[in-house]
Amino acid sequence: MSIPPGTPVRSSTIRASVPVPATGQIEPLDARAVLEVTIRALGADRIALASSFGAEDMVLLDLLAGLIERPRVFTLDTGRLPQETYDLMDAARRRYGVEIEAVFPQREAVEAMVRERGQNLFYDSLEARRTCCAVRKVEPLGRALEGLAGWITGLRRDQIVTRTATPKIAVDEGHGAIWKVAPLADWSEAQVWSYIRANAVPYNALHDRGYRSIGCAPCTRAVPEGDDPRAGRWWWERPDERECGIHFDPVSGRMTRAREVEAADAEAAARLDRREVFDA
Ligand code: SF4
Repeated sequence: MSIPPGTPVRSSTIRASVPVPATGQIEPLDARAVLEVTIRALGADRIALASSFGAEDMVLLDLLAGLIERPRVFTLDTGRLPQETYDLMDAARRRYGVEIEAVFPQREAVEAMVRERGQNLFYDSLEARRTCCAVRKVEPLGRALEGLAGWITGLRRDQIVTRTATPKIAVDEGHGAIWKVAPLADWSEAQVWSYIRANAVPYNALHDRGYRSIGCAPCTRAVPEGDDPRAGRWWWERPDERECGIHFDPVSGRMTRAREVEAADAEAAARLDRREVFDA
């Protein structure tokens, strides 16, 4: 759907001007090719890597740095991150010469939340934990995405049951129908670490202490070998509840565009000229 000329819109409601390629075209592409398609379609200055400085995000930063001179990187600084994550931000800044856009929660919202419910409300209930994530992550993400045509994430399908249908490129209806790109969707955890070792990519020191997925300090712990990689995130909750909301689409009620919409994609693909996306 296009916006009629002259229609006043906030930047957060601007829709991607380039249609998302059909899943059948994107799925066979490797991670670098998915990024190349995204850059070519949307422009390097209209996309950003959403990084929590996990292992996947560092792989993506390394790949992007090989394709774009100064890739845009933002991070949601919740105020509860481990010191090791801040150390890695500095290491990434030095290694790749990038600016890291740290997006903070709204001070008034945090102050009201902790005044009414305490500093560690997330342990009280699922509702309380989601409230904290909404204030410290979800709302700031909306601001971070304003003006962008697409965002790049480190989602992988085998991370947790909620992510098994993650497309490599989806329409993010929850954020103005911009592109949501997951170039590592079909990578395994072993592939991520193989890339990091082979390319001497800096990584979070907590990984060497048994942390396999790293978020806020009070909501993350080390995971025994062989466990679900995300078992250390909100470990007191059921596996199907362990999402913070930033990858949940409030419009569709799904994580991302699901596979069942492939038919609709194919129909759309037949009507759209995608040469601007795929031509070299
Ligand atoms: S991960 Fe924990 S501390 Fe961080 S925003 Fe969510 S509930 Fe709050």
